[in-house]
Amino acid sequence: MMKTIFSLLLFACLLTGCVLNLVTGRKQLSLINDSELRLMATNEYKTFLSGHKVLSSGTSRDAAMVDRVGARIANSITKYYDSQEKKSVLEGYNWEFNTIDDKKVINAWCMPGGKVVVYTGLLPVTQNETALAIVMGHEIAHAIAKHGNERMSQALVQQLGGMALEVALAQKPQETKDLFMMTYGIGSEVGAMLPWSRQQETEADQYGLIFSAMAGYDPREAIPFWQRMSAAGGESPPEFLSTHPSDETRIRKLKQFMPEALKYYTLRN
Ligand SMILES: [Zn+2]
Repeated sequence: MMKTIFSLLLFACLLTGCVLNLVTGRKQLSLINDSELRLMATNEYKTFLSGHKVLSSGTSRDAAMVDRVGARIANSITKYYDSQEKKSVLEGYNWEFNTIDDKKVINAWCMPGGKVVVYTGLLPVTQNETALAIVMGHEIAHAIAKHGNERMSQALVQQLGGMALEVALAQKPQETKDLFMMTYGIGSEVGAMLPWSRQQETEADQYGLIFSAMAGYDPREAIPFWQRMSAAGGESPPEFLSTHPSDETRIRKLKQFMPEALKYYTLRN
């Protein structure tokens, strides 16, 4: 089975030519047009928000903090990729940050196009604005490193034989929508989100640290934050932990990435 999947993925890669990611410099399977994916994300984000209790930043200090952190990261990375002449990294991004009032859910995510959600359940684990920036930087890194596109492309190959997204949407609309929901971990009715791959996690950690540092948040807070998150595990691990397994490898890699991230932090401070 695994061998077949691997051959299919390899074939899809050869057929389309994997796309070089401008953020990570890694070649990724990318069968989905980014603008189509952003459109889908925008629609699903709207539907998601209408079904949940969204806090207003005018009346909630938590929501105001999420907005503030989000805006600082978004502005810093926009400036950075502009200066690197890589404007296309954030092409079509129209940032939105929303805080969901649900203390039971320890989670946060970012969909393509900059559609971000933070649940209030995450805040007792982050404990401070810097750790929140670490999580949001990590989730934003998943989005702009196009990990969702990569994962959904793999799923299109495995489950729908490499069908193009527009064909899949036209012929199998429900299955395609379910794939999207599972890719981004929204809508519990379609089952749990698969954990990100180790490679995707490592990239999100590396760039997430840099993004929070660029925004003026001390990246060193990542170590105690991930230790707190692991400790929040226990018998029923929080949603965030089940899709972001935390172990010694993560902490070791974070330490390895720290000197580079600190350069951006020093520049900024
Ligand atoms: Zn992650």
